[in-house]
Amino acid sequence: MLSQPASKYRPFAPIRLADRAWPDAVLTRAPTWLSTDLRDGNQALVEPMDASRKMRMYEMLLRIGFKEIEVGFPAASQIEYDFLRKLIDEKLIPDDVTIQVMTPAREELIARTIESLRGAPRAIVHVYNAVAPAWREVVFGMTVAEVMELVKGSIEQVRRLTDAEPQTEWTLQYSPETFSLAELEVSALACETAIAAWGEGRPIILNLPTTVENATPNVFADQIEWMCRRFKNQPGVVISVHPHNDRGTGTAAAELALMAGADRVEGCLFGNGERTGNLDVVNVALNLYTQGVAPGLDFSDIDAVRAEVEYCNQLPVSPRHPYAGDLVYTSFSGSHQDAIKKAFAARRESDVWNIPYLPIDPKDLGRSYEAVIRVNSQSGKGGISYLLEHEYGLQLPRRLQIEFSQIVQREMDVGGKELTAQDIHALFERAYHPAQDSLQNLETQATGDEVQVRAIWKGQAVSGTGNGPVDALTQAFCKATGCQVRVLDYHEHAIGSGADARAMAYVELRVNEERTLFGVGMHHDITFAALYALANGVGRAALAPTSQYEVATA
Ligand SMILES: [Zn+2]
Repeated sequence: MLSQPASKYRPFAPIRLADRAWPDAVLTRAPTWLSTDLRDGNQALVEPMDASRKMRMYEMLLRIGFKEIEVGFPAASQIEYDFLRKLIDEKLIPDDVTIQVMTPAREELIARTIESLRGAPRAIVHVYNAVAPAWREVVFGMTVAEVMELVKGSIEQVRRLTDAEPQTEWTLQYSPETFSLAELEVSALACETAIAAWGEGRPIILNLPTTVENATPNVFADQIEWMCRRFKNQPGVVISVHPHNDRGTGTAAAELALMAGADRVEGCLFGNGERTGNLDVVNVALNLYTQGVAPGLDFSDIDAVRAEVEYCNQLPVSPRHPYAGDLVYTSFSGSHQDAIKKAFAARRESDVWNIPYLPIDPKDLGRSYEAVIRVNSQSGKGGISYLLEHEYGLQLPRRLQIEFSQIVQREMDVGGKELTAQDIHALFERAYHPAQDSLQNLETQATGDEVQVRAIWKGQAVSGTGNGPVDALTQAFCKATGCQVRVLDYHEHAIGSGADARAMAYVELRVNEERTLFGVGMHHDITFAALYALANGVGRAALAPTSQYEVATA
């Protein structure tokens, strides 16, 4: 890289538009969408779609709800021509859908293009030619006047040929290609020339591309506002934009252009297209959705759309892709997980969406909450307890969450890999043995205000009396071990219902006023669950009956 890049690269000159209005605009409705997956997207593939993949893409675009679809470049290849004919001949174009085809401003290609559309109910003929100085001067060697002659001649030819096919409802789309790099006056002159040649008042789409994105998106917005002032209120005119993504700001360019007055947006699903891609239509549509604007495109099963696009394009969608990536509803950081868990717990179905770290409800796109939280070395207790609760119905008390998260952390430090819900549950069972039968011949007996508990524990008879069964068993353990055991806290809840219902009990123990630890018990009977929790906690503290201790040291 150069230490002085200004010697090689020049910034794009800003547009003088002192009274620009677009910065205050708010988007309140969806634009008209045009999918160019089958044209601009397809031509950028290592291996362009074959007929069957084209058809699958087309059918999916219809299902999503696109009403304007650019289906190809029929004068360019036989495959494109045949596909277009199939759509027309087999009447595969729904009544509310218009197909679009592209042709460069060249006589023989225009003729072949119009011919390929014969019998279509409606069609948009998309004619383009480059207008920016580098193309005029270096690529084609044409003056501005010569470029305008080319536009005039080409559009007059389109008009002549389409007038001869009155059974089709025709719309012209004219793209001053390389618009974002061109002088605005030259682009405007080209558009005026196209309008005049096509016939004023007849339906025309002026499509303004960032053929190569070359400035910050506010510059593009200025360019679009400038063009809208000139053309937007003319009868029959629709202002369309066609952003690319060379600077990674295709989405921003489209959104600011809509604020600046554009009515229509061209792009591809997940931003496929030349180089860095076309505008990502999914991104703009779902950005609108999260602002409360219905996009008019259905992504309620976004994984299915993504899978189909990946199949048709033979290109993967990034796991970080907005709204659609594998990891975008997954939160690894403990503090994020904690916040999400709390917000879900507080949320009622009718509430406005306000979940931290999740700009959209994954459910709206057919994604699930289960994927929201996974546990890795960056996760805290929030993620761990979320998984245990969601997948296994365990509601760990807060201090047990902290205790267990340290056990998980140690396991993770050893293994160094992400743990699944199943891994975490197995680890919980290994650490706490909630279902362990640590007491045999357990009996409780209530007499007045007192409860007596008797059991065999570690091969030895233990018994105690207290104001409840847990207290009685605690006394029994104190007696049997010679240790001081105190119950600090107790929680219980049910898992499941009916005949399968079980009770979970959690006791927090203080042992010899030195250590605090948890015991967990599970049983069909809540009293037994509590007593097992206590026994398992004492077992975790590795307290042995005194007689065993004496035997061991004898
Ligand atoms: Zn393009």
